[in-house]
Amino acid sequence: MALRQIDHFLAGASPVQPTRFGDVHDPNSGGVQARVPLGDAQVLEAAVAAARQAQPGWAATNPQRRARVMFQFKALVEKNIDELARLLSSEHGKVVADARGDIQRGLEVIEFACGIPHALKGEYTPGAGPGIDVYSMRLPLGIGAGITPFNFPAMIPMWMFGVAIACGNAFILKPSERDPSVPVRLAELMLEAGAPAGILQVVHGDKEMVDAILDHPDIAAISFVGSSDIAQYIYSRGTANAKRVQAMGGAKNHGVVMPDADLDQVVADLAGAAFGSAGERCMALPVVVPVGEKTAIALREKMVTAMGRLRIGISTDPDADYGPVVNAAHKARVEGWIQKGVDEGAELVVDGRGFRLQGHEEGFFIGPSLFDHVKPTMESYREEIFGPVLQIVRADSFEEALALASRHQYGNGVALFTRNGHAAREFAARVNVGMVGINVPIPVPVAYHTFGGWKRSAFGDHNQHGPEGVRFWTKVKTVTQRWPDGTPDGGNAFVIPTMG
Ligand code: NAD
Repeated sequence: MALRQIDHFLAGASPVQPTRFGDVHDPNSGGVQARVPLGDAQVLEAAVAAARQAQPGWAATNPQRRARVMFQFKALVEKNIDELARLLSSEHGKVVADARGDIQRGLEVIEFACGIPHALKGEYTPGAGPGIDVYSMRLPLGIGAGITPFNFPAMIPMWMFGVAIACGNAFILKPSERDPSVPVRLAELMLEAGAPAGILQVVHGDKEMVDAILDHPDIAAISFVGSSDIAQYIYSRGTANAKRVQAMGGAKNHGVVMPDADLDQVVADLAGAAFGSAGERCMALPVVVPVGEKTAIALREKMVTAMGRLRIGISTDPDADYGPVVNAAHKARVEGWIQKGVDEGAELVVDGRGFRLQGHEEGFFIGPSLFDHVKPTMESYREEIFGPVLQIVRADSFEEALALASRHQYGNGVALFTRNGHAAREFAARVNVGMVGINVPIPVPVAYHTFGGWKRSAFGDHNQHGPEGVRFWTKVKTVTQRWPDGTPDGGNAFVIPTMG
């Protein structure tokens, strides 16, 4: 049977026949289900030309009308959410309910974008000087681009294009080549919702396409989410080309468990946060730090029991807690990190390697793994594993636990589990991490706040979505105007003007 072919989503026809393709796997079976063209500078040029044509008219469309397109888009995504969730699940491997969550979290940013007229209101100072008024306006940048990871193929593109397009920009999306179908469907739905052709286009590809985006003189801003080394590369090359760049990277989030925490609740929360979506979340909790020996012993025992109850299944199994990882290379990478942990001397309490799902023996499944006595010096602790692997790093005190999370190279998210308000307050104030949960295992901020980590988890100045997203996707123009009444002001034109 011929493979399903995924295409770029351009305003016009593709200028070239693709010569290079990537495989899109079926993580449940281990087979290849589709192929995606890996585009080049010529494909990008066609997208940029269409964006250049469409953007001025879109920017001149009043913000209320732009918001109406967002309302319509939200309705269309909701209408198609079952189909979208199944498609997403079939390429990514996350269970269908989780795929719906991926889409839903993206839609929450679209809801924020529906309020763009309010978010774009400028500032005005009447009478800043004699006969002088000052006002500022937020204007779109022109053409923006987004480069997104495989693990949230709906939410992260919507974080970016929802705000960018509502602000009046044209947007070119380069989604992950591992699960590219849902981003294309979203672009189709934006067109159906009333966004003019050329306002949202999707180009597929790998490094070659990304480099073309980084070097294109007509792309004003780039938003990236992915792993840290690539994020840093995107930031360096994009800013060297005088573009505005926000580049979110990897993570290694810690969950600190105080002796007074409700351990049953913590274990239930941790199991979901560590193993949900097979650990392929930048806000997963792959490290747990119990404070004190007693907490560590009790937590480990309860966690082993909870892990024994986890159900791994194909992504369409409604009873599965999590499904396969995205592809064979990623499976091998995660299993390599488990071996590394063993080699470094950590205690492998539960070994998820070698798990085979009956009837789906070639699928990319990995059982849940638990390490204890992991040390901060170990590479398997310092680096991101991005799989269903939980590491226990024992700490003797609150201060030691706080320092562990604060000193780690990544600073995306962190959670503290406690009943002590003072400890919680101290932790939130002092921890050197961008997003903090207090008894909340996955503290992804709501859409009207903003998402962004610290340290090697984010390069650039502005977070994703919310007011920071609006700042990222706009530039400010400030007008100082004078309407003289005809009497000469008698000022000295050669002296820097002041408001007196
Ligand atoms: P990735 O870095 O491999 O890929 C991300 C994007 O970069 C893709 O579109 C890919 O095509 C492109 N890319 C890959 N290699 C490239 C190269 N050499 N040069 C230029 N572009 C390249 O990331 P992934 O595996 O798709 O996603 C998982 C990673 O994303 C994890 O590290 C995870 O923590 C991170 N992530 C971070 C956040 C966040 O907000 N901080 C959110 C989700 C995922």
